[in-house]
Amino acid sequence: RAKSLGGKRSEFFDQSMHTLAINRLLIENDLRLGILQQQFILHYQPIVCLASGQLVGVEALIRWQKAEKLVFPNDFIPIAEESGLIISLDLWVMAEACRTVKRWLATHPVSTMTVSINLSARLFALENLASHIQHILAETGINPQLVRLEITESMTMQDTERAIHVLKALKTMGLNLSIDDFGTGYSSLSYLHRFPADTLKIDRSFVLGLNESHESQQIVASIISLARNLNMKVIAEGTETLAHVQQLQQLQCDFAQGYYFSKPVPAQAIEHLLSSQHTYHLISPV
Ligand code: C2E
Ligand code: MG
Ligand code: MG
Ligand code: MG
Repeated sequence: RAKSLGGKRSEFFDQSMHTLAINRLLIENDLRLGILQQQFILHYQPIVCLASGQLVGVEALIRWQKAEKLVFPNDFIPIAEESGLIISLDLWVMAEACRTVKRWLATHPVSTMTVSINLSARLFALENLASHIQHILAETGINPQLVRLEITESMTMQDTERAIHVLKALKTMGLNLSIDDFGTGYSSLSYLHRFPADTLKIDRSFVLGLNESHESQQIVASIISLARNLNMKVIAEGTETLAHVQQLQQLQCDFAQGYYFSKPVPAQAIEHLLSSQHTYHLISPV
């Protein structure tokens, strides 16, 4: 206990810090146990082509089935990152997502389908990242072209040269690459063209503002034209309403993902979509 500062305030501060630290430790312990007991599951959110309404892929999103409660990433990913546990979680996600998409396609051969997987900064920083991934690809026997890795801008900004090198290696292995939450990080546009990523995901915050602010519209339009110039595709995250869909169509955004189409759902629900060859009904832009 820090006595030197004295007074009630710092004592209170010490105690709340103490409580925070204990909470963290408790969650970290729970996480370890959760990993051992395989309490994690994946949900998958459809990604839809805005020209055809076709389901072109899904994003795998982790959930923690903790007793009766389903815990969402924001409540445990930060602690998993800090403790380093995120590395084993992410590797599990990758293997599980690959196995699942392989199983889907074995029974429902469709021409276009990819599974997107989020990489944490910790995983991305691993020295032997490419060989870890190669191992998972080999073990699950998946075609790497069915897999799309999502990285954020900030992950590439710490050591840009290394990031470019790693991304090139992953690309050479046949994987697809997306830049997630685009527009929110410290993006250095001067590096963007050197990343072998083929897709930008427009952050939800800009899509959410599409019908409210002219500014958001301009930002979305700029990201789309930037992507065009760099020969990249665009996915709009957080597409929640028909109005969003229509605006995005008008701006010639390629793909959309969001509650308007579907929340993230269990693997079986995606399998249903595939077996019924489900197409989303889109009306042409107003
Ligand atoms: P993200 O990669 O940007 O994923 C999109 C998030 O937006 C998901 O939240 C998804 O459920 C949510 N979302 C999708 N459409 C809508 C919409 O229309 N409206 C709103 N309000 N939200 C929408 P989720 O599943 O809670 O995941 C949050 C974040 O946690 C993800 O953001 C990603 O950064 C991280 N995450 C999720 N799964 C993994 C994982 O397996 N590994 C790692 N390292 N991070 C993960
Ligand atoms: Mg993502
Ligand atoms: Mg995102
Ligand atoms: Mg995000």
